[in-house]
Amino acid sequence: SLQVRFVKRPTGEPTADTFEIGEAELPALGDGEILVRIIWLSLDPYMRGRMDDKRSYAQPQALGAVMQGGTVGQVVESRNPKFAEGDFVLGMFGWQSHAVSDGAMVRKLDPAVAPLSTWVGVMGMPGLTAYIGLLDVGEMKAGDTVAVSAASGAVGSVVGQLARIKGAKKVVGIAGAEEKCRFVVDELGFDACVSHRSASLRDDLKAACPDGIDIYFENVGGPTLDAALSLMNPFGRIPVCGMISMYNTGPSTEGPDRLPSLMRRVLTDRLKIQGFIVSDRAAQHQKAFIEEVGGYIRDGRIKYREFVTEGLENAPRAFAGLLRGENFGKQLVKVSDD
Ligand code: NDP
Repeated sequence: SLQVRFVKRPTGEPTADTFEIGEAELPALGDGEILVRIIWLSLDPYMRGRMDDKRSYAQPQALGAVMQGGTVGQVVESRNPKFAEGDFVLGMFGWQSHAVSDGAMVRKLDPAVAPLSTWVGVMGMPGLTAYIGLLDVGEMKAGDTVAVSAASGAVGSVVGQLARIKGAKKVVGIAGAEEKCRFVVDELGFDACVSHRSASLRDDLKAACPDGIDIYFENVGGPTLDAALSLMNPFGRIPVCGMISMYNTGPSTEGPDRLPSLMRRVLTDRLKIQGFIVSDRAAQHQKAFIEEVGGYIRDGRIKYREFVTEGLENAPRAFAGLLRGENFGKQLVKVSDD
């Protein structure tokens, strides 16, 4: 099996020496075990957080171990009665070409329901994150103006399209590159999209949201959060899903303390700012999400874009690129053919 192992905690961006790529001998299958050939590896921003040895909602990634990650694969050998050779499965098999598993926490996939790759994307964890963050945490209702950052990405693209389906007054994206902004408006049907790279970000966002923002779906933090916060309407909600702009650098401690003015704003405008982790609420929403969003995907009301890197050996570079915005759509690694 080819493996990507985590060997050095990065300071700043992950680099080539963060990882070690090498072959490993697979153990013989024990009773109840399956051998899985990995087809799709999902690269996700949370992986950067796990590289730090800090207290968080999950344990840090262990040094010397195979990088953790969500994958879709195919069973090539089974000594577990629940799985047959040829079954397609979803599991946390990590950055490797093959994995041996006891089958716990492994879900069988029906390739007729949706393309295999979507189970780690729009039909999987990122799609569910959008669903929970917008509807449950964000308590979205028809008539809301919804703004979302990282708008062309795996989570953001679903947030905006769902908001439109649910009757938002206005859906506004925030993205980096101009072509991402164009895609979000022309292909995904957002009303507007502004660039976080523009010096006039706040004015641009204000022009796009003349009646203020009711929900700001937070994916990036930094100046984008500042701009959105200044436009929040009374009783506005900010589901805090991610803060990717600081994953490599950590939070900035420079400058004057603006916490008191933030808290005053929270009080006077009765804002609800709530962090959430998809796994906390997944069980509760999973079934409705698959039914509802699966339907929207089949009838074309939700579109998705994938950004495929070929070959496991290119995963480290693709992952560093994800944290820089080099991906355009859900970042996947094609490990083998489906
Ligand atoms: P995306 O597909 O959106 O890819 C990441 C995007 O982040 C990049 O393409 C880039 O878009 C943007 N980005 C990167 N650096 C910066 C920066 N410095 N400033 C502004 N934008 C930046 O990833 P996902 O959809 O998978 O994840 C989006 C967010 O959701 C992340 O913060 C992630 O951690 C979070 N998340 C949280 C979950 C939870 O349970 N709370 C679960 C899943 C994801 P651009 O080029 O437009 O800047």
